[in-house]
Amino acid sequence: MDPVELTQALINHASVTPVDAGAMDRVQRTLEALGFACERLKFGEIENLYARRGTASPNLCFAGHTDVVPEGATEGWRSDPFAATIVDGILTGRGAVDMKGGIAAWIAAVSRFDDVPGSLSFLITGDEEGEAIDGTKKVVEHLQQTGEVIDHCIVGEPTSSAVLGDMIKVGRRGSINVTITVTGKQGHVAYPQRALNPVPVLVAIMAELDARVLDEGYERFLPSNLEITTFDVANTTTNLIPQSASGRINIRFNPSHSGASLQAWIEGVCARHAERTGAKVEARTAISGEAFLTEAGPFVDVIQDTIRDVLKVEADPSTTGGTSDARFIRALCPVVEFGLVGQTMHQVNESTPVQDLHDLTDAYAKLIERYFKVFA
Ligand SMILES: [Zn+2]
Repeated sequence: MDPVELTQALINHASVTPVDAGAMDRVQRTLEALGFACERLKFGEIENLYARRGTASPNLCFAGHTDVVPEGATEGWRSDPFAATIVDGILTGRGAVDMKGGIAAWIAAVSRFDDVPGSLSFLITGDEEGEAIDGTKKVVEHLQQTGEVIDHCIVGEPTSSAVLGDMIKVGRRGSINVTITVTGKQGHVAYPQRALNPVPVLVAIMAELDARVLDEGYERFLPSNLEITTFDVANTTTNLIPQSASGRINIRFNPSHSGASLQAWIEGVCARHAERTGAKVEARTAISGEAFLTEAGPFVDVIQDTIRDVLKVEADPSTTGGTSDARFIRALCPVVEFGLVGQTMHQVNESTPVQDLHDLTDAYAKLIERYFKVFA
């Protein structure tokens, strides 16, 4: 099977989240032809797929997403973003690296094996670039409920930095968003004794949160970081003490913290300032993902050794970047991300060298072979 043709076919389905445009059917048909039993899982308007070939353990899963971000500024593209074109060995189209190319490469790698001493499976979602509510998170819950065992998982996100294989992701930071709203009592600025200004209360809360050094880093992780992302009063009158003020923070955190521990800390600070001032303070928290780390060991070794053998580079086991669906899969099994060079992801003229698709397919095939040698 040719990974380039399959990448092109997938790009030609304009599957901008949450639209599927036939992309999942294409993946399913291709996997069924390779002997996979496919289970379609539709949550809300989102298409998801779990496919497995074999019943024995270990079960090595590949996870990815068929949805893509919108094309953005259309006039900047050198060719139609949803008509994959190859010019001078460069394949251009939305999803080329993030991550239809990765899916195609793994399927092409799998097509080289009639059988493995265990099982191969796929967890493919159509909701990674969007809200990620009806995607991998729900599929993982379904697999847990049905007792499906996955032993290890590779996520095919474009983790490589400058050349194919130079970086894999063995963990990700967690992310939490908190909106803090302080409600006081509106009044005339000349009669502050009759009002309760919420602005200085919010200033004090934000200053206290911002001042804390959360940690000095954790193993392969950068120090956790809190950013104040907005501060809103929207008061257009000069002689009015406003009724309420709100602000928002985002924290990217390493495994020194959990979403719950940070939430408890923030709620504690808010409660203390409410008590001190008599204002009403409310903190609304949304945990986007917990931090995780797949520890060094045989699974990470399999991937790094394969990359060294096939691609002749040393893969940096990194934890940088945003969140990915690996944050959900970690609940099932150890997970590592390894895929194409991500430089053009989400950009105008997203593209990959065709040679990288072939090389990634070779690396994935070797990875599968080595995995079952070590774990079967
Ligand atoms: Zn992606």
